[in-house]
Amino acid sequence: MNFCSKCAQPVIFRKVTGDNRPRFVCESCGKIHYQNPRVITGCLPIWEDKVLLCKRAIEPRLGFWNVPGGFLENDETVEEGAKREVLEEANIKVEIIGIHTIYSIPHFAHVYMHFLAQLPDLSFSCGEESLEVQLFKENEIPWEDMAFSSSTFCLQRYFEDKRNGNRKVHLGEYKMDHRNV
Ligand SMILES: [Zn+2]
Repeated sequence: MNFCSKCAQPVIFRKVTGDNRPRFVCESCGKIHYQNPRVITGCLPIWEDKVLLCKRAIEPRLGFWNVPGGFLENDETVEEGAKREVLEEANIKVEIIGIHTIYSIPHFAHVYMHFLAQLPDLSFSCGEESLEVQLFKENEIPWEDMAFSSSTFCLQRYFEDKRNGNRKVHLGEYKMDHRNV
């Protein structure tokens, strides 16, 4: 960030009294611009022994498969956001079963929350943000063509749980190798 969103003067990145890390501070009006992680919310829609995935029609990772999801909006709960994303990407209203994975990427300041959801029927179709929408059995999942590690984590935990006959909430994180950054 370069300029203050309140008064449009330049900001500087510096230590703030009583805070344990530097912040963007406007020397002109005094506003401290806090920056915090963003939440990506989504659903893994289920039908019998299959799951629904969408092929992305937008960057980043255009052309790769993904568990439907996107950035949470200011006026909605994570469950509402997750259902809205499925509606936008696959034109279908799902019923949320429960929270499935919470996956942090500290390096990019992203937190993914994926729910399991039940498809009501097979009337899904391709939304504007998708190139294709398709059901996959476990042995049909395009593991090499997944858009994001959060989706791979979500799918792996889902099929593991299914094999073990249990369902729980899984916490995961993407660890960057800081030596190479
Ligand atoms: Zn300012």
